[in-house]
Amino acid sequence: MSAIMIVLDGIADRPLKELNGKTVLEVAQIPNLHRVAKNGMLGIFDPLNVPGRRAGSDTAHLSILGYDPYEVYTGRGPIEVAGTGIKLEKGDVSLRCNYCTVDEKFTLLNRTAGYIREGIDELEKAINEEINLSDHDVQFTFRNGADYRCVLHFRGKGLSANITDTDPWKEGAKILESQSKDGMPESIKTSALVNEFVKKSYEVLNNHPVNVSRRKQGKPPGNLIMPRGAGNTPEFENFYEKWKLKGAVIAGISLIKGLGALMGMDIIEVPGATGYIDSDFMAKGQKAIEILSQYDFVLVHIEGTDEVSHDHMIKEKIETLERIDLMIGWVFDHLPDNTFLIILSDHTTSSALGKHTADPPPIMIFGPGIFKDDVQLFTEREARKGMLHRIKANEIIPILLDYMNKTTKFGA
Ligand code: ZN
Ligand code: ZN
Repeated sequence: MSAIMIVLDGIADRPLKELNGKTVLEVAQIPNLHRVAKNGMLGIFDPLNVPGRRAGSDTAHLSILGYDPYEVYTGRGPIEVAGTGIKLEKGDVSLRCNYCTVDEKFTLLNRTAGYIREGIDELEKAINEEINLSDHDVQFTFRNGADYRCVLHFRGKGLSANITDTDPWKEGAKILESQSKDGMPESIKTSALVNEFVKKSYEVLNNHPVNVSRRKQGKPPGNLIMPRGAGNTPEFENFYEKWKLKGAVIAGISLIKGLGALMGMDIIEVPGATGYIDSDFMAKGQKAIEILSQYDFVLVHIEGTDEVSHDHMIKEKIETLERIDLMIGWVFDHLPDNTFLIILSDHTTSSALGKHTADPPPIMIFGPGIFKDDVQLFTEREARKGMLHRIKANEIIPILLDYMNKTTKFGA
């Protein structure tokens, strides 16, 4: 028996004024998600296992995969870095970054450099070739993630992740200097390296031909790298050892690939998986079915729905969901016997607030032995009435293992 888990990142929402008090899930044309709902069992869950706590995508996924984020989470940076294929070692410091647009005084003009995508391979190459840091005992690696997202990795003696971010989170504000949080020599040294890297990234990028041509086209240049979220290398228990499930991850963004990589799962690349609303959702679903015979558990992560929620783009959230629904239908129609399908939102992302909220998102499970409950629709409101009730994120895998008949009995 095997399982496919499809995570629709941030698809759960709150009632929206623009939709007359309904949510995106309630107004979108999603017959296939509703078809799975009719045939499966629904519920809601608390992403961080307790009501009222807002989860990031990383901590929510850790929790959903049965890990205790309060114990193992060391920040988003290392997860993103692992997602680009860098093998992390103890003592490394990892940061996540954005390509962004600044003026000559380092005032932030565009946090994503207009969702820069074309030419970023050349920019990545220039940064790695042309930047030399003054501390020769520390090596850095810079890698692109998806679009404007990128990562920075330091390896060397005496580093510490106990440093502040450079991201002011507000366009019109100055890029911040990273600072030591604890006054220790290691963090003072690391923050200085980050600041040096940021300044040198501007020198390399500002007049790079890729950015010259972006300016000509009226697009914001990606002329500075803005790091944040420094973290030490986390130690995650191997997913297979923990659950006896051979796992694979299909994702567009390095955050989810990194989580999988750090858990020892296989990362399956799918051409056209971008991590934005233009991602080839169908290709991801088809790949999951294609590789299913080699795995016990395939996680398919869809990111675009969260991105547009952060940007208050309700119309795009609906359109994206409707395209995803076609993939859900294909997967459901091609699901082999003895296979479980779990569909959930990792957390709620309020399109009104542009933020994650703690509202428990919907989850549904379909497969052999699963009750068909009375819920007919995959929506926040209906899922609350399902037979799965309200569970904790870290109960999802144990419940699945029970249905997969991979659980042993406690007692005689
Ligand atoms: Zn998320
Ligand atoms: Zn988000």
